[in-house]
Amino acid sequence: MKQMEMLSPARLCNAQSVVPMLQIKNAERRFAATPAVQGLSLDVAGGGVTCLLGPSGCGKSTTLRLIAGIEKLDQGEIRIDGQVVSDASFTTPPERRPVGMVFQDLALFPHMTIAQNIAFGIPKAKRAEVQVGQLLDRVGLTGYGQKYPHMLSGGEQQRIALIRALAAQPKIMMLDEPFSSLDQRLRAEMREFTLDLLRESGTTAILVTHDPDEAMMMADRIAVMDRGRILQEGTPQNLYHRPAALPVAQLLADLNMLQGNVRDGHVETKLGMIPAHGVAEGSNITCAIRPEHLRPCRCRPQTGNAQVLRVHSLGRESVIELGLAGHAHRLRCNAPGSSDLVPGETVGLSFDPAHVMMFAENSGLRLS
Ligand code: ATP
Repeated sequence: MKQMEMLSPARLCNAQSVVPMLQIKNAERRFAATPAVQGLSLDVAGGGVTCLLGPSGCGKSTTLRLIAGIEKLDQGEIRIDGQVVSDASFTTPPERRPVGMVFQDLALFPHMTIAQNIAFGIPKAKRAEVQVGQLLDRVGLTGYGQKYPHMLSGGEQQRIALIRALAAQPKIMMLDEPFSSLDQRLRAEMREFTLDLLRESGTTAILVTHDPDEAMMMADRIAVMDRGRILQEGTPQNLYHRPAALPVAQLLADLNMLQGNVRDGHVETKLGMIPAHGVAEGSNITCAIRPEHLRPCRCRPQTGNAQVLRVHSLGRESVIELGLAGHAHRLRCNAPGSSDLVPGETVGLSFDPAHVMMFAENSGLRLS
């Protein structure tokens, strides 16, 4: 008789811990004939923040709504903590899913006090164990229970919306552009605050944003989306330094791009010859250099001559726009501190070839 493999407690524990908190397999959602999400697969481990990053209309909010059960799947499957919650024939309703949601328009009920708003988010079974007063203390809003939403600032309302969603102790917390209506200072504050609350509660979070800085700052992992699909998923550092395709690189941060053809192991560009190790001879490629890797200097030019067009001094760094003879697009350099370059002067441009990313011109895929 075939012996069944027994799992030791330690192996059992390991086996359990690898089940992702969220599993999306080959999800598809169409509106009329147009797919908003197609062939989308994503595993999200428990704890931590995963960001869905992508341009407007790429399907980020639809993906969140599919996870929440507000939208139905046309194809595929979604599991939360191992349990199937949606497939093409079946959808667990939103109120029976262990998920919480915070939107940009906070949806606090205007006719309810803050205490009533928070209590509303807590399922009946959990109400006894949750102390609204303690939650308000936790977010620095002690004594706000009897106020109404219109009496609170945008940032205060945001904090209430967050604790209201977290009070229900969801397994997955979804945040759809929650900071986009806040000013820059408040946004930075709320990002830190939200991360602290999420970490403290150990909640798995999915954050939707089209702001790459926000994704880089907040996410443990980023899934870059385009036209209903995930182009690449990984840590922020990995995506920034090792994008698999040009659209991923472009979405994460500014790029200077130059086209060229590979001959004798080099690409000839308007910035000079760049070594193209491992790229097939004759390939038409796009060379991409991030602004922080391009250095303007008054020293003897090492590469192409460029003309300074504009200098934006932001205090901690300067953004310098440059024109390159025969190149249609402006180049951009970021230099630390204040720059003494002057519009109209001619400078040399240098860069480390190791920082040049090369992509196939037709497919956009990374070559080196
Ligand atoms: P944004 O960043 O602008 O919010 P998004 O990435 O969240 O965009 P979605 O809102 O998911 O994108 O929309 C994806 C596509 O699906 C868009 O083309 C949108 O017009 C379409 N879409 C979304 N919801 C519906 C709907 N209820 N009916 C018809 N089309 C829809």
